[in-house]
Amino acid sequence: METGFIGIGQMGRYMAGHILEAGYSLTVHDLRKEAAAPLLEKGAKWGDTPAAVAAASRVVFTSLPTPGSVEEVVYGANGLREGWKEGDIYVDTSTNSPSLIRRIAGDAGTMGVSVLDAPVSGGTKGAEAGTLAIMVGGDPASLEKVRAVLEIMGRKIFPVGEVGCGNVAKLVNNMISLACNSISAEGFVLGVKAGIIPQVLWDVITVSTGNNWCLQQYPGTTFRGNFEPGFRVDLAHKDIGLALDLGKEYDVPLPVGIAVQKDLDDTMAAGFADKGVDAVILPLEEATGVAVRLPE
Ligand code: NAD
Repeated sequence: METGFIGIGQMGRYMAGHILEAGYSLTVHDLRKEAAAPLLEKGAKWGDTPAAVAAASRVVFTSLPTPGSVEEVVYGANGLREGWKEGDIYVDTSTNSPSLIRRIAGDAGTMGVSVLDAPVSGGTKGAEAGTLAIMVGGDPASLEKVRAVLEIMGRKIFPVGEVGCGNVAKLVNNMISLACNSISAEGFVLGVKAGIIPQVLWDVITVSTGNNWCLQQYPGTTFRGNFEPGFRVDLAHKDIGLALDLGKEYDVPLPVGIAVQKDLDDTMAAGFADKGVDAVILPLEEATGVAVRLPE
């Protein structure tokens, strides 16, 4: 099966790399051609436009930052739509708006093209290791056609419902995870300011009921003052915004989600948009004069 991949960023470079290493023919595209250089050296082909990638492929994957970028890649000049052929499959692994991917699926369907939304969880470490959790919305028969390729990128493939449901699952996951991220930062600044050393607090909480995935990242991130992405603050900000939009659409109040959005707003305003998401702790550390670090 000829495959295509658009969006060779923090996630896409590993995901596309695994597809290539597994022996599939792969055509790639990104706004920044230099991002694709390592893949091109290993035998991937370059597509000048999304349409060229679609024309060369039976299944195209995207890993793009925002709904706007997905819209551009599908509907823009020389977009995927201009290269699709009947029977093609489009798999969007971006964290995207459920309503946008549903609109794309409707339009693609009129061309005989099937769309799956397949957002991923597990971060850049999971992408590198090929162990992502992948939440797939869409037609089960199309999923079966691309399952072998998805299994190269992730160990856990979850069919979650109709197209769009992949992103519903992903946005709910990220809203919960980002709430844990914000409250862990607050808890650690409070605990350290009130007299506990960070390692001791971490040892207790990671075997107690406050344990969570974000906290488990601290030894490699916050404790070392390492706030390089990983998962950037601006992308987390996009995800919580999409989750709140979904809440409005379905008339579900999300007061904790609103507080998380404010925390990410403040982190962006403090100049940390391009840092890893653990950087939500930095404005609070600065305001309180606390640094949640371990000695070197
Ligand atoms: P990224 O910004 O590092 O990569 C996105 C890539 O898309 C960049 O290389 C960019 O140049 C390219 N791009 C942007 N607009 C484009 C366009 N119009 N045409 C072609 N290329 C374009 O982002 P990322 O961290 O790799 O995340 C990708 C997606 O995966 C996002 O939706 C994100 O929310 C999601 N995600 C990220 C993580 C993570 O830990 N980084 C984890 C899970 C899900």
